Amino acid sequence: MPVHALAVSDEIDQRIYSATLWQRMPDVEVVFSCGDLPARYLEFIVDALDKPVYYVLGNHAEELTRGGDWGKRYRPQGCVDLCGKVVRDPGSGLILAGLPGSPKYNEAEPEQYTEAEMMWKILAMTPRLLWNRYRHGRALDVLVSHAPPRDVNDQPEDPAHRGFVAMRRFLRWFRPAYQLHGHIHLYDRSRSARTTFEGTEVINVFPYQELDLHVPAVEPAPVPVPAPVTATTTAAGRLRTATRDMAQREAEPVTKSPLESHP
Ligand SMILES: [Zn+2]
Repeated sequence: MPVHALAVSDEIDQRIYSATLWQRMPDVEVVFSCGDLPARYLEFIVDALDKPVYYVLGNHAEELTRGGDWGKRYRPQGCVDLCGKVVRDPGSGLILAGLPGSPKYNEAEPEQYTEAEMMWKILAMTPRLLWNRYRHGRALDVLVSHAPPRDVNDQPEDPAHRGFVAMRRFLRWFRPAYQLHGHIHLYDRSRSARTTFEGTEVINVFPYQELDLHVPAVEPAPVPVPAPVTATTTAAGRLRTATRDMAQREAEPVTKSPLESHP
């Protein structure tokens, strides 16, 4: 069964920011925000759909304020910060990971990273991803990011909207079924928002997408079978063995020494 998801990014869309949202999307199971949306928008979706909302920060980090670019900074209430984390959504069972921000292009915006900084974020997540591959048969199902990978759905001629080379490596190494991103404002609907790279479907969700996520049902890796417990490996077993040995020794016939056999 596919997981029905809503993904949003970069711009408040009145089709989502609407009192009838829960009537139009009653079967959404999980929500992803790919960045640069104010906290009040994400909190509205939490209230309207009553489903988990996972978010990463965009380069403008608008999530940290109620008004967008201004106001007191705080985390969106009732939403799950996915930045640099690997988590399993308990409702759908999806394994998720999140990478925030955009490539570094100036000193003004708060969430910008060099290729090396993005690679460090990926390396920090690697032990958990490898554990998932061993435990669940797959490292993750969905990578949620603000920026796309380099040369996939990006605008390579613009330093601010160029994708990350590090994310291409992430997809090669860990092979999620999907990467959802924003950051690229795609107004030209003749351009495709979806590209398949190394088996991952990379989707630009700007400004929102309703998705059926088809995640292969992978059997978990076999759990090593512990060695059978024998009687001699437990304390009680060792005691029983020692007692049996003593009883056997007592039952054995006592042989007389050669000296005793002489008169
Ligand atoms: Zn952006």
